[in-house]
Parts: sequence; C-alpha cells; structure tokens
Amino acid sequence: MVMRENWQLGRGMEYPYDAPPPSRQVAYVFDTNKCIACQTCTIACKTCWTSGKGQETNFWNNVESKPYGGYPVGWDTRLQEMMGPARWEKQKLVSLTIFETGDEKVPPRGHRPAAGDYAAPNLGEDDIAGITELGHHFDGTHPMWMFYLARICNHCDSPACLAACPRKAIYKRDEDGIVLVDQERCRGYRECVKACPYKKVFFNVISRASEKCVGCYPRVEQGDVALCVESCIGKIRMHGFRSTQGAPRPDNPLDYIIHIRKLALPIYPQFGTGPNVFYIPPLHVPNGFLEQIFGPGVERSKQLYRSLGDPENRTLLGALLLFGASSRIIERFEVQGEEAVGWDRNGTEVARVPFTEPVYVREHYDEQFDVYRHNTT
Ligand code: SF4
Ligand code: SF4
Ligand code: SF4
Repeated sequence: MVMRENWQLGRGMEYPYDAPPPSRQVAYVFDTNKCIACQTCTIACKTCWTSGKGQETNFWNNVESKPYGGYPVGWDTRLQEMMGPARWEKQKLVSLTIFETGDEKVPPRGHRPAAGDYAAPNLGEDDIAGITELGHHFDGTHPMWMFYLARICNHCDSPACLAACPRKAIYKRDEDGIVLVDQERCRGYRECVKACPYKKVFFNVISRASEKCVGCYPRVEQGDVALCVESCIGKIRMHGFRSTQGAPRPDNPLDYIIHIRKLALPIYPQFGTGPNVFYIPPLHVPNGFLEQIFGPGVERSKQLYRSLGDPENRTLLGALLLFGASSRIIERFEVQGEEAVGWDRNGTEVARVPFTEPVYVREHYDEQFDVYRHNTT
C-alpha cells in the first residue's frame, strides 16, 4: 500500500499500486440539467467501438435514469449497501474508500454483476422517485423527480481496475491519463470488472478478455474531443485536460469550471478512485439524494448555477457556452465582449459563441418568391 493524496476526499488514502500521476489528465464536465436522454452518445460510441461479436452488452457510454435506473442493474446501490453511506465532515471524507480494507492482500471492495444484470441496458428509464396521484400537476416545485445520468469510464486518478489486475494488463497513459486494457496481456480473470466501482469494464464472451472505454484516444492524440462528446445533441459535455501539476489555469475551461469555481463535482468521490468525469448536479433533485452521488459540494454548486446570470459569473457562463461548440479540444478560452471564444492546442480559434443568440423573424409573405413562410421551419 502507498499513501496517496486524494484532493476529492480532502485527505490521503491507501492505494495498492504505486505509480506516478500522469503529466496531464483528460477530464470531462457533464451538465445533467441539459441531458435529454436521446442516447445519441451511446449509439455513437457503440457503432464506432463495440459493434463486434461478444460486445453486445458493452455500453462504454450509457445514459441511465436516476433514481431507479442503472447499467448494469444496481451497479452503484449494491456497492453502497456494502460500503454504507458516505460520511463527510465539511469537505473531508471520514468513511472508508473501497481501497481501505485494512489488509493490502485484500482486493478493493466490489462486486461482480451477474450476467442478467447486463440484459436490460435502460431498465428504469424515465421512472420517477414516487407515485403521482390523480390531480397532481406542476406548480413550480418537483415533489416527484428523476434525472438522466450519462456515464463513461472516469479514467480515474487511482483506478481500481488497474490496481486489481493480477496480470498488470491495465495501464494509465502518462501523456493524457487515459486508462487502457492491454488485450494481449488480459486473461479474462475479471478482477477489474469486480473492482471498478462504476462497472465500466466489460467482459467480452468471445475474445474472453476485458474491454473498456478507450477514451477515444486516437482522436485525443489529434486534439479532437471524444465521439460521445462531439455527438451530444444536448451539448451537455465538455472534454479537455485538467491540470495535474502546479496551479490550475484560469484560462483552461476544465480547470476553471472544476477547480477554480468548483461548479462541477466528481461522481461518487467516496469510492476513492478520483474519477475525472465531473457533473453539474440537477437543480430540481433533493440534496439528500445528490450528496450521496456527488459529495458535499452539491448545494454550493446549485447556488452558483442559479446565479450564472450575475455579472461576476460572466466568465463561468462563457466557459459553459463553449460546451459542444467545437469538435476540437478547447485548451484556452476567454470572454471577449459579448462572445465566448475558444482556441485549440495549435492556437487556432475553434469556437466563438455569443452570449445572446440573435433572433431572425422572417416576413410571413416573401415577395421575391411569392410564397408564405413560417418561422417554425
Ligand atoms: S471508471 Fe472503472 S474502469 Fe474506468 S478507470 Fe476508473 S476504475 Fe478503471
Ligand atoms: S470516450 Fe470514446 S470510447 Fe469512451 S465512451 Fe466516449 S465515445 Fe466511447
Ligand atoms: S447525446 Fe447528450 S443529451 Fe443525448 S443522451 Fe447523450 S449526454 Fe444526454
């Protein structure tokens, strides 16, 4: 065991694998308030990466409806039952992570889903948190609620899949922190499937090896965002790099949103893996539920999101406007007057988004073509 500082927990923790942190780390921000569960991201990933034999149940990207949905079934609730509720004192985790078993020979706490748990990729879709009675109507509050949670591999700072592999077939790349399974070394023991608290390693029943999200590494190497990010209809996603060395850069949109303004929060930080997908929590969902998923920063994040229109939050709003604005990874951004502007790694401007979208109203009758037009088409 080595002691590792885990900034998401506000303390150090034991980790059974000694490796230096990567030079820089891919990271993502997902705004749950904007996801419409269209599953375009799911299909973009599936058609590109997992359309082969034995990959039928591989959904490296999935979108599930909380509170009841989950793929594989109960991936998080079963682990929560084993671990008990997360306990925080202010910003510090006082309960134990999956690695802190007290014995370095004991693997991380986890469970291996049954085959049937992979049979229904979208079980619980659109199920709400309670029962609606006759006469219930929306009156500005949300006594019943649900929200969509898009999930991919978190390319964790301290991956449980990597630590659990007896073949050392899983590795974390130094250049971008992407976590990959070496298909030649893997013998299909599935220790990674059991250890990953997010259940983002899948077993291929034909090749008899484990497979997982590859972070779209060929695209990242070219400076392009992942497919699931580029294809996102709701523009809920931003993909880039988080600084791991030195101070976070205020002109890096990921650093600004995650580290400086702390708007986006890690998913189940209490597990201890240091996930790198960060979520803006849904405003309409009770904090008691959300804090078990996103930790103690939920209320602060919600208040900040609600006040995005305030002048002091203009730079933050500018960063959010750049979600889905380019297929290139935005490495630097700036607010210029009434526009948010983003540049890629070559210094090329790749996005320019106005704070207020212009509205064009067409005349009902077009004299030039002698036709009547609608503004709805
Ligand atoms: S989410 Fe799971 S599969 Fe991905 S790096 Fe973390 S522990 Fe490994
Ligand atoms: S990053 Fe690429 S491989 Fe990973 S879930 Fe998204 S599309 Fe699939
Ligand atoms: S494409 Fe975007 S909006 Fe659609 S389900 Fe995926 S994350 Fe949500």
